[in-house]
Amino acid sequence: MNLQESILQNKKPFLIAGPCSVENPDQIMDVVRTFGESKRIQMIRGGIWKPRTRPDSFEGVGKIGLPWLVEAGKQAKLPVCTEVANKNHVESALNAGVDVLWIGARTTVNPFAVQEIADVLKGTSVPVMIKNPINPDLELWIGAFERLDKAGISDLTAIHRGFSVYNHPKYRNVPNWEIPIAFRERLSNIPMICDPSHISGRRDLLLEVAQKGLDLNFDGLMIETHPNPDAAWSDAAQQVTPKDLYSILDKLVQRSPSPGKDAAKHLDEIRQRIADLDDRVFDLLSSRMKMSEKAGELKREHNITIFQQEHWAKMKNKRLNLSEGYDLSTFFIQQMMDAIHQESIRHQTKVMNPKIDNSSDE
Ligand code: PEP
Ligand code: MN
Repeated sequence: MNLQESILQNKKPFLIAGPCSVENPDQIMDVVRTFGESKRIQMIRGGIWKPRTRPDSFEGVGKIGLPWLVEAGKQAKLPVCTEVANKNHVESALNAGVDVLWIGARTTVNPFAVQEIADVLKGTSVPVMIKNPINPDLELWIGAFERLDKAGISDLTAIHRGFSVYNHPKYRNVPNWEIPIAFRERLSNIPMICDPSHISGRRDLLLEVAQKGLDLNFDGLMIETHPNPDAAWSDAAQQVTPKDLYSILDKLVQRSPSPGKDAAKHLDEIRQRIADLDDRVFDLLSSRMKMSEKAGELKREHNITIFQQEHWAKMKNKRLNLSEGYDLSTFFIQQMMDAIHQESIRHQTKVMNPKIDNSSDE
Protein backbone atom coordinates (compact mmCIF):
# COMPACT_ATOMS: atom_id res chain seq x y z
CA MET A 1 0.00 0.00 0.00
CA ASN A 2 0.99 3.64 -0.36
CA LEU A 3 0.25 5.13 3.04
CA GLN A 4 0.95 8.77 2.19
CA GLU A 5 -1.56 8.61 -0.66
CA SER A 6 -4.15 6.79 1.44
CA ILE A 7 -3.87 9.43 4.15
CA LEU A 8 -3.91 12.44 1.87
CA GLN A 9 -6.71 11.11 -0.35
CA ASN A 10 -8.94 10.27 2.59
CA LYS A 11 -11.42 13.12 2.81
CA LYS A 12 -11.84 12.72 6.53
CA PRO A 13 -9.03 12.39 9.07
CA PHE A 14 -7.23 9.04 8.59
CA LEU A 15 -7.99 6.90 11.64
CA ILE A 16 -5.71 4.30 13.12
CA ALA A 17 -7.21 2.32 16.01
CA GLY A 18 -6.42 -0.83 17.93
CA PRO A 19 -4.93 -1.89 21.23
CA CYS A 20 -1.76 -0.57 22.82
CA SER A 21 -0.63 -4.22 22.90
CA VAL A 22 -1.85 -7.34 21.14
CA GLU A 23 -2.59 -9.70 24.04
CA ASN A 24 -4.15 -12.82 22.51
CA PRO A 25 -6.05 -13.80 19.33
CA ASP A 26 -9.49 -13.20 20.87
CA GLN A 27 -8.64 -9.76 22.18
CA ILE A 28 -7.37 -8.41 18.85
CA MET A 29 -10.18 -10.04 16.90
CA ASP A 30 -12.72 -8.69 19.35
CA VAL A 31 -11.48 -5.12 19.12
CA VAL A 32 -11.49 -4.94 15.32
CA ARG A 33 -14.81 -6.77 14.90
CA THR A 34 -16.73 -3.63 13.93
CA PHE A 35 -13.86 -1.67 12.37
CA GLY A 36 -14.35 -2.79 8.78
CA GLU A 37 -18.09 -2.34 8.54
CA SER A 38 -17.98 0.92 10.49
CA LYS A 39 -16.04 2.46 7.55
CA ARG A 40 -14.55 4.88 10.05
CA ILE A 41 -11.22 3.20 10.70
CA GLN A 42 -8.57 3.06 8.01
CA MET A 43 -5.83 1.05 9.72
CA ILE A 44 -5.41 -1.27 12.72
CA ARG A 45 -2.60 -0.76 15.21
CA GLY A 46 -1.30 -3.36 17.66
CA GLY A 47 1.89 -3.37 19.72
CA ILE A 48 3.84 -6.65 19.60
CA TRP A 49 7.09 -5.50 21.24
CA LYS A 50 6.53 -2.92 23.97
CA PRO A 51 9.31 -0.63 25.15
CA ARG A 52 8.35 -0.27 28.80
CA THR A 53 9.79 2.16 31.32
CA ARG A 54 10.14 -0.40 34.13
CA PRO A 55 11.61 -3.89 33.70
CA ASP A 56 8.85 -6.00 35.19
CA SER A 57 6.05 -4.54 33.09
CA PHE A 58 4.47 -6.50 30.26
CA GLU A 59 6.86 -6.19 27.31
CA GLY A 60 4.58 -7.43 24.57
CA VAL A 61 3.71 -10.97 23.47
CA GLY A 62 6.52 -10.91 20.91
CA LYS A 63 6.43 -12.40 17.45
CA ILE A 64 3.90 -15.08 18.34
CA GLY A 65 1.34 -12.25 18.17
CA LEU A 66 2.16 -11.21 14.60
CA PRO A 67 -0.14 -13.76 12.88
CA TRP A 68 -2.97 -12.77 15.26
CA LEU A 69 -2.60 -9.15 14.19
CA VAL A 70 -2.34 -9.99 10.49
CA GLU A 71 -5.40 -12.27 10.69
CA ALA A 72 -7.40 -9.52 12.42
CA GLY A 73 -6.49 -7.20 9.54
CA LYS A 74 -7.71 -9.80 7.02
CA GLN A 75 -11.02 -10.21 8.84
CA ALA A 76 -11.60 -6.47 9.02
CA LYS A 77 -10.20 -5.96 5.49
CA LEU A 78 -7.88 -3.27 6.80
CA PRO A 79 -4.09 -2.85 6.77
CA VAL A 80 -2.26 -3.42 10.05
CA CYS A 81 0.70 -1.66 11.63
CA THR A 82 3.03 -2.37 14.51
CA GLU A 83 6.01 -0.80 16.29
CA VAL A 84 9.55 -1.91 15.45
CA ALA A 85 12.68 -1.01 17.37
CA ASN A 86 15.39 -3.11 15.73
CA LYS A 87 16.37 -5.25 12.74
CA ASN A 88 14.80 -8.46 14.09
CA HIS A 89 11.47 -6.75 14.68
CA VAL A 90 11.45 -5.42 11.11
CA GLU A 91 12.28 -8.81 9.61
CA SER A 92 9.70 -10.69 11.68
CA ALA A 93 6.96 -8.11 11.04
CA LEU A 94 7.54 -8.07 7.28
CA ASN A 95 7.73 -11.87 7.07
CA ALA A 96 4.42 -12.11 8.89
CA GLY A 97 2.75 -9.72 6.42
CA VAL A 98 2.42 -6.56 8.51
CA ASP A 99 1.58 -3.71 6.11
CA VAL A 100 3.01 -0.65 7.84
CA LEU A 101 5.69 -0.19 10.51
CA TRP A 102 6.15 2.57 13.02
CA ILE A 103 9.17 3.68 14.97
CA GLY A 104 8.28 4.50 18.58
CA ALA A 105 9.25 7.56 20.57
CA ARG A 106 11.88 5.70 22.57
CA THR A 107 13.54 4.51 19.36
CA THR A 108 13.46 7.80 17.45
CA VAL A 109 15.75 9.23 20.13
CA ASN A 110 18.46 6.71 19.21
CA PRO A 111 20.17 7.35 15.85
CA PHE A 112 21.91 3.93 15.98
CA ALA A 113 18.57 2.13 16.24
CA VAL A 114 16.96 4.31 13.55
CA GLN A 115 19.93 3.67 11.23
CA GLU A 116 19.70 -0.08 11.86
CA ILE A 117 16.02 0.00 10.87
CA ALA A 118 16.77 2.15 7.80
CA ASP A 119 19.51 -0.30 6.72
CA VAL A 120 17.33 -3.38 6.97
CA LEU A 121 14.50 -1.65 5.09
CA LYS A 122 16.73 -0.72 2.15
CA GLY A 123 15.27 -2.03 -1.11
CA THR A 124 11.72 -2.40 0.25
CA SER A 125 8.80 -0.04 -0.26
CA VAL A 126 7.30 -0.46 3.20
CA PRO A 127 5.47 2.59 4.57
CA VAL A 128 6.95 3.76 7.86
CA MET A 129 5.52 6.12 10.46
CA ILE A 130 7.92 7.86 12.81
CA LYS A 131 6.78 9.06 16.21
CA ASN A 132 8.43 12.15 17.65
CA PRO A 133 11.31 11.45 20.06
CA ILE A 134 10.32 11.55 23.74
CA ASN A 135 12.35 14.75 24.23
CA PRO A 136 11.26 17.94 22.44
CA ASP A 137 14.01 17.83 19.82
CA LEU A 138 12.79 18.73 16.35
CA GLU A 139 16.15 18.03 14.71
CA LEU A 140 16.26 14.48 16.10
CA TRP A 141 12.79 13.81 14.71
CA ILE A 142 13.72 15.23 11.31
CA GLY A 143 17.02 13.32 11.44
CA ALA A 144 15.12 10.03 11.65
CA PHE A 145 13.17 10.96 8.50
CA GLU A 146 16.42 11.78 6.74
CA ARG A 147 17.94 8.41 7.68
CA LEU A 148 14.99 6.53 6.20
CA ASP A 149 14.82 8.78 3.17
CA LYS A 150 18.52 8.20 2.46
CA ALA A 151 17.85 4.45 2.59
CA GLY A 152 15.27 4.93 -0.18
CA ILE A 153 12.22 4.63 2.07
CA SER A 154 10.02 7.41 0.80
CA ASP A 155 6.53 6.53 2.06
CA LEU A 156 6.95 8.24 5.42
CA THR A 157 4.42 9.67 7.87
CA ALA A 158 4.91 11.50 11.18
CA ILE A 159 3.09 10.77 14.43
CA HIS A 160 2.93 13.42 17.13
CA ARG A 161 2.61 11.71 20.54
CA GLY A 162 3.77 14.52 22.83
CA PHE A 163 6.97 14.95 24.83
CA SER A 164 8.02 13.44 28.11
CA VAL A 165 7.89 15.75 31.12
CA TYR A 166 8.24 15.32 34.87
CA ASN A 167 5.00 15.30 36.80
CA HIS A 168 2.70 17.31 34.57
CA PRO A 169 -0.73 17.99 36.11
CA LYS A 170 -2.65 17.40 32.89
CA TYR A 171 -0.80 15.48 30.21
CA ARG A 172 1.16 12.25 30.23
CA ASN A 173 3.28 13.75 27.43
CA VAL A 174 3.00 17.49 26.84
CA PRO A 175 1.89 18.29 23.30
CA ASN A 176 4.17 21.29 22.59
CA TRP A 177 2.07 21.87 19.47
CA GLU A 178 4.62 24.33 18.11
CA ILE A 179 7.01 21.41 17.42
CA PRO A 180 4.76 19.46 15.00
CA ILE A 181 3.87 22.83 13.45
CA ALA A 182 7.58 23.61 12.95
CA PHE A 183 8.05 20.07 11.59
CA ARG A 184 5.44 20.76 8.91
CA GLU A 185 7.15 23.98 7.94
CA ARG A 186 10.32 22.00 7.31
CA LEU A 187 8.90 18.78 5.78
CA SER A 188 5.63 19.98 4.32
CA ASN A 189 4.94 16.87 2.22
CA ILE A 190 4.92 14.47 5.20
CA PRO A 191 1.43 13.63 6.54
CA MET A 192 1.03 14.21 10.28
CA ILE A 193 -1.01 11.94 12.57
CA CYS A 194 -1.93 12.99 16.12
CA ASP A 195 -1.80 10.35 18.89
CA PRO A 196 -4.13 11.71 21.61
CA SER A 197 -3.79 8.47 23.62
CA HIS A 198 -0.13 8.93 24.48
CA ILE A 199 -0.39 12.72 24.79
CA SER A 200 -3.22 12.58 27.31
CA GLY A 201 -2.59 9.27 29.07
CA ARG A 202 -6.26 9.30 30.15
CA ARG A 203 -9.41 8.59 28.21
CA ASP A 204 -11.37 11.64 29.39
CA LEU A 205 -8.94 13.92 27.53
CA LEU A 206 -8.95 12.07 24.21
CA LEU A 207 -11.69 14.15 22.60
CA GLU A 208 -10.12 17.46 23.58
CA VAL A 209 -6.67 16.51 22.29
CA ALA A 210 -8.00 14.88 19.12
CA GLN A 211 -10.05 18.01 18.34
CA LYS A 212 -7.03 20.21 18.88
CA GLY A 213 -5.06 18.04 16.43
CA LEU A 214 -7.80 18.41 13.82
CA ASP A 215 -8.06 22.15 14.46
CA LEU A 216 -4.34 22.36 13.70
CA ASN A 217 -4.97 20.57 10.40
CA PHE A 218 -3.40 17.22 11.25
CA ASP A 219 -4.15 14.53 8.67
CA GLY A 220 -5.22 11.77 11.02
CA LEU A 221 -5.49 10.28 14.48
CA MET A 222 -4.14 7.18 16.20
CA ILE A 223 -6.31 6.17 19.16
CA GLU A 224 -5.71 3.14 21.37
CA THR A 225 -8.76 0.90 21.51
CA HIS A 226 -9.33 -2.21 23.60
CA PRO A 227 -12.35 -4.50 24.19
CA ASN A 228 -11.95 -4.14 27.95
CA PRO A 229 -9.71 -1.09 28.54
CA ASP A 230 -9.46 -1.33 32.32
CA ALA A 231 -8.08 -4.85 32.02
CA ALA A 232 -5.52 -3.93 29.32
CA TRP A 233 -2.00 -5.24 29.88
CA SER A 234 -0.49 -1.86 29.00
CA ASP A 235 -1.71 1.75 28.98
CA ALA A 236 -5.08 0.82 30.55
CA ALA A 237 -6.02 4.36 31.62
CA GLN A 238 -5.90 5.80 28.12
CA GLN A 239 -7.65 3.08 26.09
CA VAL A 240 -11.32 3.11 25.07
CA THR A 241 -13.74 0.50 23.74
CA PRO A 242 -14.61 0.68 20.03
CA LYS A 243 -18.05 1.96 21.06
CA ASP A 244 -16.50 4.84 23.01
CA LEU A 245 -14.13 5.50 20.13
CA TYR A 246 -17.08 5.90 17.75
CA SER A 247 -18.75 8.26 20.17
CA ILE A 248 -15.55 10.37 20.30
CA LEU A 249 -15.49 10.36 16.49
CA ASP A 250 -19.14 11.49 16.44
CA LYS A 251 -18.29 14.48 18.59
CA LEU A 252 -15.27 15.59 16.60
CA VAL A 253 -15.84 18.62 14.44
CA GLN A 254 -14.08 18.46 11.12
CA ARG A 255 -12.79 21.78 9.86
CA SER A 256 -11.42 22.83 6.51
CA PRO A 257 -8.10 24.60 6.03
CA SER A 258 -9.53 26.71 3.19
CA PRO A 259 -12.37 29.08 4.12
CA GLY A 260 -15.32 29.53 1.73
CA LYS A 261 -15.76 32.81 -0.19
CA ASP A 262 -17.81 34.73 2.40
CA ALA A 263 -15.77 33.50 5.32
CA ALA A 264 -12.54 34.30 3.43
CA LYS A 265 -13.61 37.95 2.95
CA HIS A 266 -14.58 38.35 6.57
CA LEU A 267 -11.42 36.61 7.70
CA ASP A 268 -9.32 38.99 5.57
CA GLU A 269 -10.94 41.97 7.30
CA ILE A 270 -10.29 40.54 10.74
CA ARG A 271 -6.72 39.69 9.78
CA GLN A 272 -6.16 43.24 8.58
CA ARG A 273 -7.34 44.56 11.93
CA ILE A 274 -5.03 42.14 13.69
CA ALA A 275 -2.13 43.31 11.52
CA ASP A 276 -2.96 46.94 12.42
CA LEU A 277 -2.93 46.05 16.12
CA ASP A 278 0.38 44.23 15.67
CA ASP A 279 1.78 47.40 14.06
CA ARG A 280 0.83 49.31 17.18
CA VAL A 281 2.23 46.66 19.51
CA PHE A 282 5.57 46.78 17.68
CA ASP A 283 5.67 50.59 17.55
CA LEU A 284 5.06 50.61 21.29
CA LEU A 285 7.73 47.99 21.91
CA SER A 286 10.19 50.00 19.88
CA SER A 287 9.41 53.19 21.89
CA ARG A 288 9.65 51.19 25.07
CA MET A 289 13.17 50.02 24.19
CA LYS A 290 14.21 53.60 23.42
CA MET A 291 13.11 54.44 26.95
CA SER A 292 15.16 51.51 28.25
CA GLU A 293 18.18 53.01 26.53
CA LYS A 294 17.56 56.31 28.34
CA ALA A 295 17.53 54.37 31.62
CA GLY A 296 20.77 52.68 30.49
CA GLU A 297 22.43 56.06 29.86
CA LEU A 298 21.46 57.25 33.31
CA LYS A 299 22.70 54.03 34.92
CA ARG A 300 26.00 54.42 33.06
CA GLU A 301 26.48 58.01 34.24
CA HIS A 302 25.80 57.02 37.85
CA ASN A 303 27.51 53.61 37.71
CA ILE A 304 24.36 51.65 38.59
CA THR A 305 23.95 48.00 37.60
CA ILE A 306 21.58 47.36 34.72
CA PHE A 307 19.67 44.70 36.62
CA GLN A 308 18.02 45.25 39.98
CA GLN A 309 16.26 42.17 41.21
CA GLU A 310 13.69 43.84 43.43
CA HIS A 311 12.55 46.36 40.87
CA TRP A 312 12.21 43.69 38.18
CA ALA A 313 10.24 41.34 40.46
CA LYS A 314 7.87 44.21 41.24
CA MET A 315 7.31 45.04 37.55
CA LYS A 316 6.70 41.44 36.62
CA ASN A 317 4.37 40.72 39.52
CA LYS A 318 2.31 43.77 38.73
CA ARG A 319 1.55 42.40 35.25
CA LEU A 320 0.99 38.86 36.52
CA ASN A 321 -1.56 40.14 39.03
CA LEU A 322 -3.42 41.84 36.21
CA SER A 323 -3.69 38.64 34.21
CA GLU A 324 -7.46 38.34 34.65
CA GLY A 325 -8.14 41.94 33.73
CA TYR A 326 -6.05 41.59 30.56
CA ASP A 327 -7.62 38.20 29.83
CA LEU A 328 -4.11 36.84 29.22
CA SER A 329 -2.75 33.63 30.72
CA THR A 330 -0.10 33.95 33.44
CA PHE A 331 2.10 31.69 31.29
CA PHE A 332 1.86 34.14 28.41
CA ILE A 333 2.51 37.17 30.65
CA GLN A 334 5.50 35.41 32.17
CA GLN A 335 6.98 34.69 28.74
CA MET A 336 6.15 38.12 27.40
CA MET A 337 7.66 39.94 30.37
CA ASP A 338 10.79 37.78 30.23
CA ALA A 339 11.18 38.48 26.52
CA ILE A 340 10.69 42.23 27.01
CA HIS A 341 13.15 42.19 29.88
CA GLN A 342 15.84 40.37 27.90
CA GLU A 343 15.49 42.78 25.03
CA SER A 344 15.58 45.72 27.43
CA ILE A 345 18.80 44.43 28.98
CA ARG A 346 20.26 44.10 25.49
CA HIS A 347 19.44 47.75 24.75
CA GLN A 348 20.82 48.95 28.06
CA THR A 349 24.01 46.91 27.60
CA LYS A 350 24.41 48.54 24.21
CA VAL A 351 24.48 52.04 25.73
CA MET A 352 26.49 50.99 28.77
CA ASN A 353 29.18 49.02 26.89
CA PRO A 354 29.04 50.20 23.27
CA LYS A 355 32.07 48.05 22.40
CA ILE A 356 30.33 44.74 23.18
CA ASP A 357 28.46 43.21 20.28
CA ASN A 358 25.33 41.77 21.82
CA SER A 359 23.13 42.01 18.76
CA SER A 360 22.46 38.28 18.73
CA ASP A 361 22.06 37.83 22.51
CA GLU A 362 18.92 35.98 23.42
C1 PEP B 1 2.57 2.88 21.67
O1 PEP B 1 2.17 3.38 20.61
O2 PEP B 1 1.95 2.04 22.31
C2 PEP B 1 3.84 3.40 22.22
C3 PEP B 1 4.66 2.67 22.96
O3 PEP B 1 3.98 4.66 21.92
P1 PEP B 1 5.16 5.73 22.16
O4 PEP B 1 6.31 5.27 21.33
O5 PEP B 1 4.51 6.96 21.65
O6 PEP B 1 5.43 5.77 23.63
MN1 MN C 1 0.47 2.53 24.35
